[in-house]
Amino acid sequence: MSPRHVYDAIVLGGGPAGLSAALMLGRSRRSTLVLDAARPRNRFASHMHGVLGNEGVDPATLLERGRAEIASHGVEYQLAAAHEVTGAAHGLEVILEGAALSTRALVLATGARDQLPHINGLAERWGHTVLHCPYCHGWEVRDQRLGVLITSPLQAHLPFLLRQLSDRVAVFASNASALDASTRARLEAREITVIDAGLTSLEGPARVLEYATTSAGERVPLDALFAGGTVSPHDAMLAGLDLERDESPSGSFLTIDQTGKTSHPRIWAAGNVVTPHANVPMSMGAGTMAGAAVNATLAEEDADASHARHTHR
Ligand SMILES: Cc1cc2nc3c(=O)[nH]c(=O)nc-3n(C[C@H](O)[C@H](O)[C@H](O)COP(=O)(O)OP(=O)(O)OC[C@H]3O[C@@H](n4cnc5c(N)ncnc54)[C@H](O)[C@@H]3O)c2cc1C
Repeated sequence: MSPRHVYDAIVLGGGPAGLSAALMLGRSRRSTLVLDAARPRNRFASHMHGVLGNEGVDPATLLERGRAEIASHGVEYQLAAAHEVTGAAHGLEVILEGAALSTRALVLATGARDQLPHINGLAERWGHTVLHCPYCHGWEVRDQRLGVLITSPLQAHLPFLLRQLSDRVAVFASNASALDASTRARLEAREITVIDAGLTSLEGPARVLEYATTSAGERVPLDALFAGGTVSPHDAMLAGLDLERDESPSGSFLTIDQTGKTSHPRIWAAGNVVTPHANVPMSMGAGTMAGAAVNATLAEEDADASHARHTHR
C-alpha cells in the first residue's frame, strides 16, 4: 500500500482570505489544497467597492482571477465542504464527504454567516438597497434618503458615519435601550432623525427601496437602508479540537495572534471567520500573513528534521 499523501497545507475556504493564503503557499512551492464550499459572504452584491485596483469589480470576478493565480502556482482547488478537522500523527486530518485528507498545517478561512433581521422585504434587498457597511456601498448612495436600523448599542456609531455621506439620515431604534440619552442628543445635534420604532416591511419594485413601514404604522420614504444581523463564524469543524476563543459583545471567535495562529500549533485562521468586520482588502491581508506564517513554520520544521537526520548519520 502506498503511503498516504500528506499536503503541506490545506486551506479551508476559497474567498479573499483563503485564496490569498494559498497564493503565498503556492509561491513558496508548498503542496497546497484549497477546499471551498463557494458561498462567499458578499455573493449577494454585484459590485465590490473599497478594494484598491478593483473598484466596482464583481466579487465573483476577483475570486475567479484568484483561482487562476493559485492554479498557475500549482495549488489544487476542490469544490467541497470540510466537516471536521482532527489531530493526526503527521499533523491534521480534514474530513469531507467520502474522504479524509492529511496535512501538516491548516488555514481556516471559511468566513461568516449573516443572520438578517426578520423584516418583510429585507433579505431579497440584501447587498442591493439593504446595505451593511458605509465603506463598501455608502458612496453609491451618497446624498440619498438613508435609513439605519439600530438593534443594539454596538451599531450606535453607524448613523454618524452615514451623516458624512448624506444630510438625510433617519435612525429606526427598534430597541429603545440601544440609544442612550447622550447618543440621542448627539444625533439631534447632527440633524439625524430618530424614529422610536422597529420596521415591519420594506416596499418598492423588485430590489428597489421606496419606503419602509414602521411598527407604529408610519411609512418613511427611503432609498437605502443600512442594517446588520448577527454574524456567526463558520468554525464548527474545529469544535473537537477545543481551541481558545475570545468572547465579545460581537460574538465568540477563535483566538489568534498577529500572524493568524490559533492556540493549535498547526492551525491558522484569517478573514471573517475570526474578524467579522474585515472587508475584502483586510481579509486578503490577513490571509497573506497566515499563508506566509505557515510557510515559515514549515521551513523551520523542515530544517529541524534535516538536521536531526544529518546528526543521526
Ligand atoms: C452584502 C455584502 C457586501 C459586501 N461588499 C463588500 C465590498 O463592496 N467591499 C469589501 O471590501 N467588502 C465587502 N463585503 C465584506 C466581504 O464579504 C468580506 O470582507 C469577505 O467576504 C471576507 O472574506 P473571507 O475570505 O474571510 O470570507 P468569504 O468571502 O465569506 O469566503 C469564505 C469561503 O469559505 C467557504 N466555506 C465555508 N465553510 C466551509 C467549509 N466547511 N469547507 C470549505 N469551505 C467553506 C465559503 O463557502 C466561502 O466560499 C461585503 C459583505 C456583504 C455581506
